[in-house]
Amino acid sequence: MPAAFDTVIIGGGNAGVSLAARLKRDGVRSVALVDPSPLHRYRPMLNYAAAGHARMSRYERPMATVVPDGVELVPHAATRIDPDAQTVTLDNGPSVSYRDLVLCPGLTPHWEETPGLHDAYIDGWAVSAHVPEYAGRACAALVREREGTVVFSIPPEPASCGGTVLKAMFLACDRWQREDVLGRIDVHLVTPFRGLLGLEPVDSRLRPFIGEYGITVHDQTRVDAVDHHARSISLDGQGPATIEQVNLAYVTPHSRAPRFVADSGLGDGGDAGLAAVDPRTLRHVDAASVWGLGDAATVGTRPSGGALRAQVSVVADNMRADQHGGREAHYDGYTVIPVAVSRDRLVLAEVDRDGRPAPSISAVDLTKPRRLTYAFDRYVQPVVYFRKLLRGRV
Ligand SMILES: Cc1cc2nc3c(=O)[nH]c(=O)nc-3n(C[C@H](O)[C@H](O)[C@H](O)COP(=O)(O)OP(=O)(O)OC[C@H]3O[C@@H](n4cnc5c(N)ncnc54)[C@H](O)[C@@H]3O)c2cc1C
Repeated sequence: MPAAFDTVIIGGGNAGVSLAARLKRDGVRSVALVDPSPLHRYRPMLNYAAAGHARMSRYERPMATVVPDGVELVPHAATRIDPDAQTVTLDNGPSVSYRDLVLCPGLTPHWEETPGLHDAYIDGWAVSAHVPEYAGRACAALVREREGTVVFSIPPEPASCGGTVLKAMFLACDRWQREDVLGRIDVHLVTPFRGLLGLEPVDSRLRPFIGEYGITVHDQTRVDAVDHHARSISLDGQGPATIEQVNLAYVTPHSRAPRFVADSGLGDGGDAGLAAVDPRTLRHVDAASVWGLGDAATVGTRPSGGALRAQVSVVADNMRADQHGGREAHYDGYTVIPVAVSRDRLVLAEVDRDGRPAPSISAVDLTKPRRLTYAFDRYVQPVVYFRKLLRGRV
């Protein structure tokens, strides 16, 4: 007999831990959190770490210490789900059964989408904070760069707060400017969006910094392939087809959900194999006892940690309404992209699923570069994350 739980959550990242805590607070009896990783990371700090502004080890915790009281940690990877039998098979063989299943296993690099990129990572001249194993190397590479061509790329959606690549880029440019080497570095930005993030009025707040740092922007363009011997990057877009003699490629691979989601028949049929949930109720479109949130689900907006507060609440409310009756809650698609533009100012993009501004406070325009928003994102938010968000308190 498989171990049986009221709720099984696959993925102990930001979404899974926050939801587990919230469900325990709501009185759900037995909750299991399935995750093979020994470590839980506060991922938004990865960009600061890559730019040399933070030590990542301060923002990592052993997984067991962030699992909420009363929640059982199952330290294995889910390999298969049988939605009819309501069971999850684990990588060590046995399975667990559930009444409700929540899918939030995050995104993983889809290297095959960009030929040559993985070789360039192995060679050491391509990096990104979005591939955490390489974040330390990204820091060393950005900090030591003194001349030549550096290419940053915003990954196409789905991506885990992909627009924050701009954070690493602006922080690096600010450093190079202060060290008086920026004039010798030819900085390129490749973005799949029109303009920068494809979001006005945020783009117009960012454009002056593009000018100040002398960055060449290739918009509505993607990195198509990387020639790791020639050190060139092929682009698929409107401008020049290739950038030659690249010193450093800060190129983030495309992302996809872990394969077990699609292999279990719970994917949306797209290349990224996201869990197919209704973006408003976050319930699976075919399997009524399955829910999904976070980066790996079709939440219909650009994924971010800031989007999870609302998503956790919607999933918890709708699971409770399902059991005890009550009104269905809806997720409106709110999401955030914080972009540091220098080492002490930050622009906060808050938008809905159509990219329209969705400010959380009306009295202050947070899209304006501000010291206060930088201090909040860099210093206050990590404390809120570990003390409140992961405890289901926000
Ligand atoms: C570099 C970077 C910078 C970011 N900056 C910001 C920011 O400034 N602001 C912001 O709001 N958001 C930011 N984000 C986005 C934010 O971190 C994510 O949106 C958030 O972490 C998503 O949470 P999640 O739980 O869906 O996925 P994750 O946090 O990725 O967690 C997924 C978990 O699932 C586990 N898992 C994977 N496969 C399996 C399996 N088969 N079985 C069991 N478990 C599995 C993984 O081990 C992992 O622990 C950033 C992300 C990155 C990568």
